[in-house]
Amino acid sequence: MRYRSATVAGFHGFPRLCKVSKRTTGRRTVLKPPGQIKPEFIKRINAYEYDDMFLAFCDICLRFRPLNLPPMSAAIKESPSFAALRELFAKRIAVLDGAMGSMVQTYNLSEADFRGERFKDFPHDLKGNNDLLCITKPEVIEEIHRLYFEAGADIVETNSFSATTIGMADYHLESIVTELNHAAVACALRAARAAEAATPGRKCFVAGAIGPLNRTLSMSPDVNRPDFRAVTWNQVVEAYTEQIRALIDAGVDALLVETIFDTLNAKAAIFAIENLFEEKAVRLPVMISVTITDASGRTLSGQTTEAFYNSIRHAKPFSVGINCALGGRAMRPYIEELARIADCHITCYPNAGLPNAFGGYDETPDDMGAVLREFAEAGLVNMVGGCCGSTPPHIKAIANAVRGVPPRKPSTIPTALRLSGLEPLTA
Ligand SMILES: [Zn+2]
Repeated sequence: MRYRSATVAGFHGFPRLCKVSKRTTGRRTVLKPPGQIKPEFIKRINAYEYDDMFLAFCDICLRFRPLNLPPMSAAIKESPSFAALRELFAKRIAVLDGAMGSMVQTYNLSEADFRGERFKDFPHDLKGNNDLLCITKPEVIEEIHRLYFEAGADIVETNSFSATTIGMADYHLESIVTELNHAAVACALRAARAAEAATPGRKCFVAGAIGPLNRTLSMSPDVNRPDFRAVTWNQVVEAYTEQIRALIDAGVDALLVETIFDTLNAKAAIFAIENLFEEKAVRLPVMISVTITDASGRTLSGQTTEAFYNSIRHAKPFSVGINCALGGRAMRPYIEELARIADCHITCYPNAGLPNAFGGYDETPDDMGAVLREFAEAGLVNMVGGCCGSTPPHIKAIANAVRGVPPRKPSTIPTALRLSGLEPLTA
């Protein structure tokens, strides 16, 4: 079954081919004579480029498992956190935490702080490696988690956004990735247990944060070589597998694949997750959050919101949503679109507005609270929180703003088929 998502690897970025259907005979691929294609099919396929159709085909393949494997439900049990999170999401709109990076900045940590005792003689600069603080300044990370729980967050994200071998290569710290993720989960779990102890009966959750990587599978970093990739599918799967295995082993309640700007990277993370669920015979809630990077309403790798959802729906996500980028107000049409089509929970955790000229964020706690309350009252969301620039006061305002507003009900739009390329094809 290792061929599942792997068939998608490396193809999406190939030059676009002609708009025709193809038929495979043995090892040779030949074009099907037009007379053998039903006119209706030609009409539909002509609306889409070839690589859209190829990805659509891959998404169909992903829904099927080889016959020699036992049914997923019999082989893999749900984690206990599944039922607890379902209960929370059924009862009310859940609250996620806010930004980690901008909170770390407020501590004005020096190079020596980032190094700690353990890395004091390390030959490369380490300042700016926020994930490393889980090991060298765990009290800071734990305190930030604690502040978010105190502000009213139900779920905090581990400080592990870049804790993969690919992310840590910038700091020459690939060898400690497993340890980093273990430490990140430990910081968050300590804060969660402390918050639960402070308020008897309260349930606090930890989601393992899985970032998008600084190398992409769909796009070339070299404008003169559009076919070039800085990384391969197998390298990305391997990097995600090490991180996610460590997050699961350390005891996260859910996995959050977030700030997705390249769907193929996200599919590599999902592929790694599915393999690990089989390896460990346990399934955790998977939360997926995409980033819409400009006002055209597309991801950086070019997909519309619905096409993105169709691409990842096979993972049976616990939730899907949008974070970061544009800030809340500009997200509304895309959150509306997701809320219309998704048969799982919807999440929204925007930045505190667009970055200003100084790289700061201008939206106040009340601004963010007002926007997310509008979304809640329109029945669009099941979990809200903040991304870049948000702080514990923002989360407090957001938690207050959505209190008492009923959560969105999952969409029940009947669809026979949902395919995707850069555009959706939903039947
Ligand atoms: Zn962000």
